[in-house]
Amino acid sequence: MEKILIIDDSLTQADLLKAILETDYSITITHDSQEGLRLAGCGEFSLILMDVVMPGMDGFVLLRKLREAALIQRTPVILITSLSDLESEERGLALGAVDYIRKPFRDAIIRARVNTHIKLYQYRLQVERLAMIDQLTGVANRRRYDLTCRTKWQDAIRLGVPISLCMFDIDKFKVYNDTFGHPAGDKVIMEVAHTVNGLFRRNTDFFARYGGEEFVAILLGNDAESAYRHLKDVRRAVEERKIPHNPEVAPWVTVSVGGVTVIPKEGDSYDTYLQIADTMLYDAKRFGRNQVVWTSEHMEQLRESAGAEAR
Ligand code: GH3
Ligand code: MG
Ligand code: MG
Repeated sequence: MEKILIIDDSLTQADLLKAILETDYSITITHDSQEGLRLAGCGEFSLILMDVVMPGMDGFVLLRKLREAALIQRTPVILITSLSDLESEERGLALGAVDYIRKPFRDAIIRARVNTHIKLYQYRLQVERLAMIDQLTGVANRRRYDLTCRTKWQDAIRLGVPISLCMFDIDKFKVYNDTFGHPAGDKVIMEVAHTVNGLFRRNTDFFARYGGEEFVAILLGNDAESAYRHLKDVRRAVEERKIPHNPEVAPWVTVSVGGVTVIPKEGDSYDTYLQIADTMLYDAKRFGRNQVVWTSEHMEQLRESAGAEAR
């Protein structure tokens, strides 16, 4: 059941709204606007019904505060008020209310408008979700990556923790497509994506399809040694799927991985480090593919060689 928050200082008014809506929705009521702001902040409501005239913080101020809070910026707000002047209506809508209902109201109108705005909100969330997912593999797409990477970078700067940027590329994939056909190639991309995605389990980990047969991962909190070790496990997991490749180039489908770990400081450029990860990937290819090449600010390159480790 979708959740609705009612913020109204009038007990009768709030109870009336609740009675109209409670068969279809789970209703939370507060009579205090400050408390309303706090409750809304948890981000679990699909709609907020709000009175304009309230003691303390009025509906307009509350609306502005809600619009400033990132988590609830998009939660639709319907203003309910006895103010009949057009200025209030205009002001409320300009502040981002999706609708405006005047008291006294009709039950059927409240229900209809609420239903419409909840449907629109759900549709919007669904579209946003789909826009962030790679259609072929179901993992995060490039768009989501673009929106996420700089936030992660800023988090690392703010928290003073290491961040690892990591690029993957399927080895000799053109040969695979040429040998087995493009649809079979698509299946491989899917399988590799699922295998790797399942190994980034922490909620600070991020993995996305960067494009074509390339992927990107971001880890927060691991030092270079542990990130490198983890990526070796990931690389091995792909190899161990034993997806047959064209035997002329390799027995199985494998990936090459390049990465860098850094504790970034204010002013450091994300792009510079992504470029370093890409250079490490290039080295992994150069050194013979199916391996991880890693670097950090203080360390020499870490790399695998022919299954055995060479530093
Ligand atoms: P390397 O080991 O150096 O990475 O060799 P490679 O053949 O993998 O590299 P290259 O960049 O030359 O080729 C990448 C191939 O990936 C070319 C393209 O046909 C294929 N590819 C890119 N996107 C897709 C896709 O969505 N589906 C399929 N099936 N193939 C794709
Ligand atoms: Mg490539
Ligand atoms: Mg490739």
